[in-house]
Amino acid sequence: MGLSNVYGVPGVGRRRRATVIDGKEIAAELRSQVAAGVRAHAAEHGRAPTLATILIGDDPASTVYVEAKIRACGEVGLGSVHHRLPAEVGREQVLELIDALNADSEVSGILCQLPVPSHLDGAELTNRIAPEKDVDGLTVASAGRLALGLPGLRPCTPSGVMRLLAATGVDPAGRHAVVIGRSNLFGKPMAQLLTQADATVTLCHSRTRDLAAVARSAAILIVAAGRPGMVGGECIGPGATVVDVGVNRTERGLVGDVSFEEAAKVAAAITPVPGGVGPMTIACLLQNTLEAARFDPAA
Ligand code: NAP
Repeated sequence: MGLSNVYGVPGVGRRRRATVIDGKEIAAELRSQVAAGVRAHAAEHGRAPTLATILIGDDPASTVYVEAKIRACGEVGLGSVHHRLPAEVGREQVLELIDALNADSEVSGILCQLPVPSHLDGAELTNRIAPEKDVDGLTVASAGRLALGLPGLRPCTPSGVMRLLAATGVDPAGRHAVVIGRSNLFGKPMAQLLTQADATVTLCHSRTRDLAAVARSAAILIVAAGRPGMVGGECIGPGATVVDVGVNRTERGLVGDVSFEEAAKVAAAITPVPGGVGPMTIACLLQNTLEAARFDPAA
């Protein structure tokens, strides 16, 4: 499911082996599962789970992201309530709104779109969200639960990568997984999810020595550095599964952190950018909102 072959350029006499992992198709499958779960929840409880979104200011990229999330909620039957606050809103006012949403039994999940204007502290606002409504999985409580292997809501993009691997038939158990990038948003939770799936994990960053050699030793290579094309063919072990999380806007359009053409000659399977990890992130947000509804005391 979600796979297609990449063939070599005609006349060059070479046939590439990499399979392209189709994130759009895998995300569509997850969305239809969520839609079925939402229908079942609504039939049992009389209403659909609801996502509350908070957008502060008018950053164009953030506006597009939030609109896409609200649209996606509607497509799977989830409810949504949107709170758009002016850029100059005070800290207390935002915290009061989050407290009110935490206490609102009709709100299953809360998302505060980052980044926030510089007079506000994004981490403080995120951490005010009740852990059972933390659909981005980014609060200290959710990160702690993940680190300890306790049940909880997991960050959407690393969860999406785990689902991509599963849909591709790649079982991390016993295999060497290398993650490039150690952010709280992605790299650290990714390494923890892989560890829980019994992979042997190496977490790389800007101080890692001989990154290419480390990356080449990976059966599963996951790249999230935010550096366009930094991972070339020399970083890929033959037969590896390569997941490119990077999203970089360049003159050539949207590109990942992996040089796709080079990597596709060596890897067994690879995600494209766009159309790989990206679609999974929103699908996992929808899944988390449905999951959060299980904690709804009124449900
Ligand atoms: P980030 O917070 O900037 O973290 C980047 C990480 O990459 C850091 O740990 C950094 O190391 C490491 N790094 C940077 N240059 C490196 C190099 N030359 N060699 C080795 N490691 C290097 O970024 P992020 O939020 O994790 O995002 C990373 C990328 O993923 C971005 O392109 C972002 O747009 C994308 N992303 C996509 C999605 C999606 O839904 N598709 C979601 C989240 C993120 P240090 O810690 O040593 O500085």
